[in-house]
Amino acid sequence: MPARAEVVVIGAGLAGLSVATRLAAAGRDVLVLEAAGHAGGRLTTDRVDGFLVDRGFQVLNTGYPRAADLDLDALELGWFLTGARVWVDGRAHRVLDPRSRPTSIAATATAPIGTLPEKAALAAFSVRAGFLPVERLRQAPDRTAAEALQQAGLGGLVQERFLRPFLAGVLLEDRLETSGHYLDLLWRSFVRGRIGLPARGMQSIGQQLADRLPEGALHLGCRVTGVASGLVRTTDGSIAADAVVVATDPDTAAGLLPSVTASAPRQVTTHLHVLPASPWDDALLVLGRPGGQLVNSVVLTDAQPRYSPDGRALVASSTLAPSREADVREEVARAHGVATGDLAHLTSVTVPAAQPAALPPLELRRPVDLGDGVFVCGDHRDTPSIQGALASGARTARAVLRHLRPGSAASA
Ligand SMILES: Cc1cc2nc3c(=O)[nH]c(=O)nc-3n(C[C@H](O)[C@H](O)[C@H](O)COP(=O)(O)OP(=O)(O)OC[C@H]3O[C@@H](n4cnc5c(N)ncnc54)[C@H](O)[C@@H]3O)c2cc1C
Repeated sequence: MPARAEVVVIGAGLAGLSVATRLAAAGRDVLVLEAAGHAGGRLTTDRVDGFLVDRGFQVLNTGYPRAADLDLDALELGWFLTGARVWVDGRAHRVLDPRSRPTSIAATATAPIGTLPEKAALAAFSVRAGFLPVERLRQAPDRTAAEALQQAGLGGLVQERFLRPFLAGVLLEDRLETSGHYLDLLWRSFVRGRIGLPARGMQSIGQQLADRLPEGALHLGCRVTGVASGLVRTTDGSIAADAVVVATDPDTAAGLLPSVTASAPRQVTTHLHVLPASPWDDALLVLGRPGGQLVNSVVLTDAQPRYSPDGRALVASSTLAPSREADVREEVARAHGVATGDLAHLTSVTVPAAQPAALPPLELRRPVDLGDGVFVCGDHRDTPSIQGALASGARTARAVLRHLRPGSAASA
């Protein structure tokens, strides 16, 4: 490892990789130090018995503005339909964005997920979030998602049967205490984009960015233990730098930088099962039932067959509270209308700090330039998502370039 670099970036998650690739492209000498043995951060994919297993159910939304930073074709995405399957009175009903399957309009219109006025309100909410300028969406004071939905006429049955369970799986909380402004941005990306899984797993998103770095710029298995202006201490020695970017998870960032307050309290447990074949004929999330432990369950291989080595179906089922496989197995079987005996348990994963909370008032662009050549970025600076991580990386790269350019003001 070199004794100095122009910029040291700590963490090779999407935020760190976004900063590093931009600085390298601008001709800067960048060194990325990553504690884990691979790039991608929270987007990690393991191989278990030949199946691709992401650490927690996650998807790429192509409606994120910063999806433009990725080579989507090279990711070979497999697609989910936008919407969900909802079980009511022993029957599964499809609730779909009519644009993703126009023939489903009648089924969605008659699905027992709310009154006709509520369904009209949901359509109006989607048009507003999807197409109003972002500044207009953020004009009204921020409040909780629950209050925002209530205000939009979506506080009744449609919230309980569809919106709350659907959003719980995305926000990793089911009280809808998340910022309404964040809900708008999230819903906007659902309206504007599609939901996909890369052929080589979610980790390949980070790997794609890492592959853009110059040779030797990424050091894996190197844990940073301390940061000061112009100096980074690691388990392998110290490195001098003109600029230091802390792009770790929120809790580690707060530990390395006393002026940063951040935490990632949202957790999720995901159980992976194998079925001989998918019981469904389309790729659609199944929502958990009221009173159950599951927030959702989905046959991943319906969207991305390459998650399976041999054509068998891979099912991911998530709970917000930590759970044991034995406790949710029956619920998983019922979600897909199969017998519990058909499900072979592959593995389970609990991610204790999956995402930072985005409570109102949403602080969209928290400062990234801490002064003295020290910078911080990550999803906790913007929004708890792939979009937030990439956007904060882009913002931080601009701030670092201003700092390195003599005579220019460093601020962001
Ligand atoms: C289960 C789960 C489901 C999710 N679902 C979605 C989803 O569907 N859609 C979506 O948009 N987002 C989702 N997210 C959120 C998204 O994955 C994150 O917001 C994003 O990946 C955060 O990227 P980051 O670069 O900010 O942080 P991280 O990915 O946490 O990267 C930080 C990096 O820093 C490294 N590091 C930490 N400490 C040190 C140290 N001391 N020295 C060196 N390196 C260190 C870590 O190893 C890591 O690689 C999900 C997250 C999880 C966990």
